[in-house]
Amino acid sequence: MKLLFLGSPGVGKGTYAQVITEALNIPHISTGDLLRNETQKDTGLGKKIEETMNQGGLVSDEILIQLIKTRIKDKDCENGFILDGFPRTKNQAENLEKLTGITHVLNFKANDEVIIERLSGRIVCKKCKTIFHKTGNKPKIENICDKCGSELHQREDDKPDSVKKRLKIYKEKTEPLIAHYDSKGLLVEITINKPISEIRDKVILKIKSYLEGKTDKIGEIK
Ligand code: ADP
Ligand code: ZN
Repeated sequence: MKLLFLGSPGVGKGTYAQVITEALNIPHISTGDLLRNETQKDTGLGKKIEETMNQGGLVSDEILIQLIKTRIKDKDCENGFILDGFPRTKNQAENLEKLTGITHVLNFKANDEVIIERLSGRIVCKKCKTIFHKTGNKPKIENICDKCGSELHQREDDKPDSVKKRLKIYKEKTEPLIAHYDSKGLLVEITINKPISEIRDKVILKIKSYLEGKTDKIGEIK
């Protein structure tokens, strides 16, 4: 199963990917996380990537395509994967098609107010990158990661100026991919406005039953 998660920044696709990766036992490939790893390296390229990301811009297609090409060759991707955050441009989508086929594209949606709330309240683990939320999906101990015990923080690009830029770029460059995958018959829409903590099991159930071919629509999960 080769899944692609689409949706606006802040829609929660990273969080849903964290849930589905466990339920289906296929790896979660977040290009945001792969890039943040690159920024940890003390290289000129790492610094350049960090600057682009902090401002909310897009990192170059060449870098992304190379990262994905390498990652999907890893052994754990043999039975499939979840791509979260890639492709984000038409050029990336065309290059992905040269590398591998995709079986399903899940387009996540939420109301605008919910998206803004999710972005401004998001806190992530500095070490393992697990995503939490200040009010919706709180860690058990304030500011500490449930999984590894490290400290949580707000991402630099979740601050208001960068958020505005990310939403604008999403509309211009990434949103057109929805029609692209729809025309290939791969797309399904999923709307989730409730916090994941309230509907986690339902989300898993609905997505699983869609992937197993038991339903041909998902719609809003309430
Ligand atoms: P979100 O989905 O909330 O925007 P991500 O962690 O997916 O967060 O991405 C963070 C940043 O990483 C993006 O704003 C961008 O700078 C960079 N990035 C991630 N994926 C890509 C991509 N496919 N193409 C270009 N830049 C990317
Ligand atoms: Zn952690």
